[in-house]
Amino acid sequence: MDDRIDETPPQGTSRWCSWHEDWSGTAVLVRINEQGSGPGWGLYACGYCRELHGLTPVAEIPVADLVKACR
Ligand SMILES: [Zn+2]
Repeated sequence: MDDRIDETPPQGTSRWCSWHEDWSGTAVLVRINEQGSGPGWGLYACGYCRELHGLTPVAEIPVADLVKACR
């Protein structure tokens, strides 16, 4: 994992965009990685990267599809 992820965000609302690897105020959760044991972890993408890579915010994905993807 990149050490820069531990840097303090420039703004309180900023999140780390895992795609262009920088802080962004428009980043939202787009992916949840479930691990066999222990807590899963999420990936955030900013508006630009979501459009560029065709990413869908987790909040807009039906729960049924999320459950399916985790199995
Ligand atoms: Zn981005």
